[in-house]
Amino acid sequence: MIKLLDEARELSIFTAYNTNVDAITYLRGDTVQKLIDEFGAGAVRRRMEEYPRQINEPLDFVARLVHALKTGKPIEVPLVNEELQGWFDSHFKYDVERMGGQAGIIANLLANLDFRRVVVYTPHLSKRQAGMFVRKENLSYPVVEGGRLVFRHPSEAYREGDPVKVNRIFEFRAGTTFKLGDETVTVPFSGRFIVSARFDSIRIYTEPGLKPFLPEIGLVADGAILSGYQGIKLRYSDGRDANYYLREAKRDVLLLKREHDVKVHLEFASIQNRELRKKVIYNLFPLVDSVGMDESEIAYVLSALGYPELSDRIFTYNRIEDTVLGGKILIDEMNLEVLQIHTIYYIMYITHSNNPLSEEELRSSLELAATLAAARASLGDIRSPEDFKRGLGVPYNERGEYVKLRFEEAKRRLRTREYKVVIIPTRLVRNPVSTVGLGDTISAGAFTSYLALLRRKGAL
Ligand code: AMP
Repeated sequence: MIKLLDEARELSIFTAYNTNVDAITYLRGDTVQKLIDEFGAGAVRRRMEEYPRQINEPLDFVARLVHALKTGKPIEVPLVNEELQGWFDSHFKYDVERMGGQAGIIANLLANLDFRRVVVYTPHLSKRQAGMFVRKENLSYPVVEGGRLVFRHPSEAYREGDPVKVNRIFEFRAGTTFKLGDETVTVPFSGRFIVSARFDSIRIYTEPGLKPFLPEIGLVADGAILSGYQGIKLRYSDGRDANYYLREAKRDVLLLKREHDVKVHLEFASIQNRELRKKVIYNLFPLVDSVGMDESEIAYVLSALGYPELSDRIFTYNRIEDTVLGGKILIDEMNLEVLQIHTIYYIMYITHSNNPLSEEELRSSLELAATLAAARASLGDIRSPEDFKRGLGVPYNERGEYVKLRFEEAKRRLRTREYKVVIIPTRLVRNPVSTVGLGDTISAGAFTSYLALLRRKGAL
């Protein structure tokens, strides 16, 4: 596995678009209590019943937070009213600030693993954001100077005045208690509540000045990992809309591939709005080679594609057989080269049967991904290629054998001759230092090792 990692590290990877600052607060019971007392338990309860889908005013936040604490489920709710930033700043102290956003997390990860070259692009690069990139020579940001494309470290490429996207993450621990009126609430599971900034000023796109240079960027990259489309809004105050940004996103992929058919991986994240979810799938999936997502996301995708029963089944029962079936539908309808699905207990690849890699090779790529995630979960971060070895000491999860058994059954029942489907159990760390970015780590590890294996075969 070390050999495969070494081969992957020979690659040059481009990644875009989303970065943000994750401002983390470790929530205590008395902090929650103060919030409830400020608004009154009755008002909080009423708003909880309304279940606001986005945060427009402080009470929306308090209601959704208390709801999440009662169930102990991790959730992300968009904050759409920029004026509330002051309210948050006056009510909470941040314990830690960290790089957030898939492109930012993946860029730092691959740079720390000493990949040959990592080019990261994010349309808003403030000084604060730029300061969160690791100081590595292999990491750069594309800049146009004097009509030419040059690459600079993000810390030398930032622009004063660029907006900063701050996602506020409230980490909660099982056992935290507070009172909601006369009801005593005890948080059942540890998790996190994310208030994600969705402001008009934040866009997911390539600046017009850089756009003509995308083919040149494509030429220096062996692969591209694109993400952040969940941050597109349906409508903006200047009249632009999701259709506009998705048309531009399609052009970006085609421009990257123009001079050399660079393989493109799209990392899909949950999109609450069904209309936007459908647009992202239909506009972009057919243009990319590889897609990665987690189990709840495949269920959302299937529901958007018109398979509500299968989607419901995956949500309710989490059966491997249904996930395989859903994956087959997705690679067929979108004609993907490879689909990767990660869940808490297993990771899966589905390809067509003519994929150049053998099932054994595909499995070794997933092994690398699971090991990398285990290393990150144990250490909190991956700072050097050496850190990877830490993952090798993490055993497969205790359901591993059961997973394999169910998978073999599913394979017998479903027609899988036209596909290659491989699955491996995850190496689950019992008390992870952090769970943020583990999915991104799996996808980056899987895609880059997939490319390395293609290269070994002369297919890249
Ligand atoms: P996501 O839902 O995209 O953030 O992906 C999270 C993935 O990280 C899960 O599907 C697991 O495969 C992996 N994962 C989660 N928790 C752990 C852990 N404690 N140790 C190792 N891997 C983990």
